[in-house]
Amino acid sequence: MFSRLIPCDIRKLVLPILYAVASLVSLNAAAQNETPAIFQREPRPMPSSLQIEAKLQLETYFSSLAQGGVGLLRLSGDGILGARAEFRRETTGFFYAADGDWYTLIAADMDASPRTYPLTVQVARQSGEVAFTRELRIDSANFIVQNLNLPRGRAYLADPEIETAELALLESLTSEITPAPLWDASGFELPHDSELSTPFGTFRRLGDDRQSRHTGWDQNVPTGAPIQAMAAGEVIFADALAIRGNYALINHGLGVYSGYAHFSELHVDEGQPVAAGQIIGLSGNTGRSSAPHLHWEIALRGKWVDGAAFLALWLPSPSGAQKDAGAAQ
Ligand SMILES: [Zn+2]
Repeated sequence: MFSRLIPCDIRKLVLPILYAVASLVSLNAAAQNETPAIFQREPRPMPSSLQIEAKLQLETYFSSLAQGGVGLLRLSGDGILGARAEFRRETTGFFYAADGDWYTLIAADMDASPRTYPLTVQVARQSGEVAFTRELRIDSANFIVQNLNLPRGRAYLADPEIETAELALLESLTSEITPAPLWDASGFELPHDSELSTPFGTFRRLGDDRQSRHTGWDQNVPTGAPIQAMAAGEVIFADALAIRGNYALINHGLGVYSGYAHFSELHVDEGQPVAAGQIIGLSGNTGRSSAPHLHWEIALRGKWVDGAAFLALWLPSPSGAQKDAGAAQ
């Protein structure tokens, strides 16, 4: 009845403003109920956009994603049983976090064409299903090109078959999705306190028209430096690989993995739980490497993502208890 009395155009203007005011009030209320500061590295940032449907709030913490970027979505409202997001033909579940809201990470793979793509979020509630749809832009990351000159004895490691086999192994390992975060309140940190060098996504010329992509970041680290787990998790691979040399791969849950390459010594075993900051090995120059350095990389659900951008993300603290219907896929 009320809605019939208001011309449609005015409703379109007024109702979003009312909802926005209501949501700011509830954001404040949520902030007061948050877990103690010790459980979160930083306060949750203000979302860059807010969408409201049927008393559900969907917040995005980015206005666009660069190629290789990861974005955080937050969903809040009453009676949520579970939710999933669809972006670039990938469906991902939301997880229930310590602050009582639902979160998921979406990825823009490094080969995505820069343009807009639809993002759809479907929410299961006691009262039924609700769907949100919006457009998200993927921007060019302006990846650089670099020549990689391998020492003579390691030139055979430019063989694309060796690289394809290694990447296939890592893709299969990092495609397993543990349905809850394994990281803890300390979140993610750099594996070593030293300067970053070659960035993620760099196109690398290996001679003879062979080209490779840089799946992680490099740091200038001499041989023998202790390297730390970037976050809590479980070691799922600790062995020698052709290109990455002595390599450790840690599962952090929700499809997030960190990998560490070219070690001179590995100090962990497969299946071993590790704490954030725990020493997992010593840096070195094994594998396809032309000088001692640390290469580290982050994968999300089987795709390499920009680890430095991932480290800059605010992440919610994991919940001790999962809601039954809230398991991520
Ligand atoms: Zn590297």
